[in-house]
Amino acid sequence: MTTFDYDLFVIGGGSGGVRAARVAAATGAKVGLAEESRMGGTCVIRGCVPKKLMVFASGYREMFDDARAYGWDLDDGAFDWSRFQGRLHSELDRLEGIYRKLLSNSGVTIHDSRAVLEDAHTVRLADGQTKTARHILVATGGRPVRPDMPNAHLGLTSNDIFDLKVLPKSILIVGGGYIACEFAGILNGLGVQVTQYYRGAQILRGFDDEARGLVAEAMRDKGVALHLGTNIVEMRSASDAPAAPGMGTPMNSQASGTEATPAANPGGGIWIKSTNGMEQVFDQVLFATGRQPNTDGMGLEAVGVKIGRRGEVLVDEYSQTSVPSIHAVGDVTNRVQLTPVAIREGMAFVETVFKGNPTPVDHKLIPSAVFTQPELGAVGLTEEEAREQEPIDVYCTSFKPMQHAFAGRTDRVLMKLIVSKATRVVLGCHIVADNAGEMIQLVGIAVKMGATKEDFDRTVAVHPTMAEELVTMRDPVRSA
Ligand code: NDP
Repeated sequence: MTTFDYDLFVIGGGSGGVRAARVAAATGAKVGLAEESRMGGTCVIRGCVPKKLMVFASGYREMFDDARAYGWDLDDGAFDWSRFQGRLHSELDRLEGIYRKLLSNSGVTIHDSRAVLEDAHTVRLADGQTKTARHILVATGGRPVRPDMPNAHLGLTSNDIFDLKVLPKSILIVGGGYIACEFAGILNGLGVQVTQYYRGAQILRGFDDEARGLVAEAMRDKGVALHLGTNIVEMRSASDAPAAPGMGTPMNSQASGTEATPAANPGGGIWIKSTNGMEQVFDQVLFATGRQPNTDGMGLEAVGVKIGRRGEVLVDEYSQTSVPSIHAVGDVTNRVQLTPVAIREGMAFVETVFKGNPTPVDHKLIPSAVFTQPELGAVGLTEEEAREQEPIDVYCTSFKPMQHAFAGRTDRVLMKLIVSKATRVVLGCHIVADNAGEMIQLVGIAVKMGATKEDFDRTVAVHPTMAEELVTMRDPVRSA
């Protein structure tokens, strides 16, 4: 019988890889894990966690205004980026330490190294060592990509934001997805002058149209200059810009003393010509134009692992690749790019391979939230998707929440349920409101259980809350 160095070798120390390694080790398996960067991966080091802390930081400006309306006597404060950033990085160091400890306490051997595949049961580490394993799990995640255009390297990606030495005075954000919209709200809240270009007709493609519209309206109300149907035609370092800027808004001043990250502008701003004819200089440009699976140079195809059109590892419902001893989970498989999904996939892999209990991953009815301001929480079908599927009733309400109305803010919230006419099952729920992420987590349970509109109605309202509207909407606003 062949002997291996490990029962499982995991490549990638992000959410999916770490969870799979730990639960596999708990079954008694001998597990090794290689990570070339910092333990914790995109979510902990350069994604969900630092982003959410920045969302919190950016929310205080409006809270100070609201506090005054509620009778508090407050002076105008200023935001100190370097103070926040110092604390942010300490927190990330702390979390990385916890991840390492969890792995070593579980008996997982950590290799701080890049690992690539040598054959179906062997990985090669950066120092040339090879390790053999009965099973290999590829959990290498993804990375942000810039568009393929001249001088795109002048722009930042989401990876760079957390390391900026100085906050820019102005920024152009390109894209209309989760990352673009979240950072538009964050940077606007921190006092940066934010312009956002999205090439399509409305931001947040794939979400419910009414919810997308309300988020876009709120972003504009709060000061984001959102341009739809707009993209960059040409970008250059401002020092290389054509002599006459031509029509368009005046060039912005460069923030004094602005230092740039290595990936960012060299210091004098970035000149942009856009499809709407405007020419403008921004301190920074952020490309939030999607992410790509980390499969390059991994030796995957050479050992027979099939790769898809977008560079993703192709897997079956058990996360098994075309090579039986190699599995893959998380963003590298480009199924649903969300941390909790990668964790589920990692646990289902261990259940299947190490516990003899074949467990397919259930990707249906995944609740998610976009941490815009206000947040957008969603689960299930949008109105547009549902009406293609079957006859539906739409229950919807939009109102000024009590807390903000009192403070004189114009913000509106949206609560919307999509209900099957035939079965009365709630097919989808869409919430635009502060803390919509918290609300949709709980609504997600009911929707996943197959609750009907009448089940919602049988539930007594919690008063006075915004969420009570979800159980008090009596009549459909329309049927389709
Ligand atoms: P998305 O795929 O969500 O959005 C990419 C955006 O960039 C789209 O609006 C797309 O336009 C646009 N785009 C793509 N290529 C170009 C181009 N060449 N020029 C101009 N615009 C372009 O990716 P993100 O990077 O925002 O996020 C990646 C994933 O990460 C998300 O899908 C999500 O799963 C996950 N994520 C989740 C978060 C959460 O749960 N809160 C937070 C952040 C990320 P178009 O719509 O026309 O294709």
